Amino acid sequence: MAEPFPLAPSLWAATAPPPVETPPLDRDTEADVCVIGGGYAGLSTALHLAGRGVAVALLEAHEPGWGGSGRNGGQVIPGIKYDPSELTAKYGPEAGEALAAFVGGTADIVFDLIARHGMDVPHVRAGWIQGAHTDEMIRTVKRRAAEWAARGVAAEVLDRDQVAAALGSRQYLGGWLDPRGGGVQPLAYARGLARAAQKAGAALHGGSRVTALDRSGNGFVVTTAQGARVKTGKVVMATGGYTGDLVPKLRQTIIAPNSFIVATAPLGDNVAKSILPGGQVTSDTRQLLLYFRKDHQNRVLMGGRGPFREPGAASDWAHLERVLTKFYPQLAGAPIEHRWCGRVALTRDFLPHIHEPEAGLIIDIGCMGRGVGLQTAMGRALAAYAATGERSELPFPITPIEPLPFHALHKLYVSAIIAWYRMTDGGVKAAA
Ligand SMILES: Cc1cc2nc3c(=O)[nH]c(=O)nc-3n(C[C@H](O)[C@H](O)[C@H](O)COP(=O)(O)OP(=O)(O)OC[C@H]3O[C@@H](n4cnc5c(N)ncnc54)[C@H](O)[C@@H]3O)c2cc1C
Repeated sequence: MAEPFPLAPSLWAATAPPPVETPPLDRDTEADVCVIGGGYAGLSTALHLAGRGVAVALLEAHEPGWGGSGRNGGQVIPGIKYDPSELTAKYGPEAGEALAAFVGGTADIVFDLIARHGMDVPHVRAGWIQGAHTDEMIRTVKRRAAEWAARGVAAEVLDRDQVAAALGSRQYLGGWLDPRGGGVQPLAYARGLARAAQKAGAALHGGSRVTALDRSGNGFVVTTAQGARVKTGKVVMATGGYTGDLVPKLRQTIIAPNSFIVATAPLGDNVAKSILPGGQVTSDTRQLLLYFRKDHQNRVLMGGRGPFREPGAASDWAHLERVLTKFYPQLAGAPIEHRWCGRVALTRDFLPHIHEPEAGLIIDIGCMGRGVGLQTAMGRALAAYAATGERSELPFPITPIEPLPFHALHKLYVSAIIAWYRMTDGGVKAAA
């Protein structure tokens, strides 16, 4: 019996266009490539494989966009944790520059796909502002902006007053604006990818949790909870922060904390104009970063840390509601309409990992908080690799599966890290 696939009760679930039909797999089938996981990574892989004429079947435990891809902040931010100079130091000048070009282009891919496939996705491309919360971080964002400017990006360093004017809040000492960034309705985007993949010829199955993955000749047999199977040449696995025990030790390579978001009810025009008037999306330089934006209907969203466990009550979001009114006192008393959360896959080195523990079993895991662009771009690269076998199609090297030491203690570990970062990040000021 297929599982029902309820979505988390988020703002996005309440406002997205309806999902495409993705009936559970109910009989055995065959495909050149079977994709496991219907988030941005899996959907983009399926779309790009189908575009190449490859027969692809995607199996998703719930419905496309059920995981992080339908729950996130919808901020489309190019780049990763590492700046171009850090990438060239780590990978050498040539490979490092190639990686910088790859991560720098991830937002372009999202907005291009939305336009090219005519997706019904509320979106805005007014840039991403990163606020700096300490003097040291001012130096970091200045260097970051200069590095991207040297690569042709019209990056702008913002002083304290400019950030305050752009955000409508004096919480930061300065910052920078990356014009490549923007915002999307994230679940609408996941559904848009699903629709485009189907149109291109991919077979998408929701309610189809994969429970076994077995070698069969040169390929694999992928078995779902309802017993139906896919006989396939290759497998691309992209199960993100919801990775289970399908591949031994894979789950132990990540920590998957919950990230929490609150959203107000739609604001009246005057209040809405006082907050992020230019429509940018924004996050900051804290280790436990805060991320916030307005949606397409003038709600304000504030996202950040929360308990590792699944939330039990509205009080699990109370810290974000306090932050919201410290940033924007005019929101005191504004009703909070939605509270939700989702799991983010963090790797030890904060890079996405690609594994191929046996030939043809390709795994992509580890998104950090940049998955909207990054995992869409990873999907395109994984499709190219699965179709051609050319390793040069992959932006990151294929690495062995290496569990984190003491992974069994990761909940304690995350709680300790959160406590430490809360102390070192410093608090949020009451508004001046
Ligand atoms: C609250 C929150 C806020 C975030 N904010 C941002 C943001 O503003 N900007 C940004 O760029 N990124 C953000 N992120 C990160 C971004 O959402 C993720 O990086 C991205 O969605 C990951 O995509 P994915 O395809 O790797 O995984 P997911 O979207 O998590 O998809 C994995 C899918 O695999 C399925 N699955 C798991 N196991 C199985 C199985 N055995 N069989 C079949 N299916 C299976 C799950 O049901 C799930 O749907 C945020 C994440 C969260 C949770």
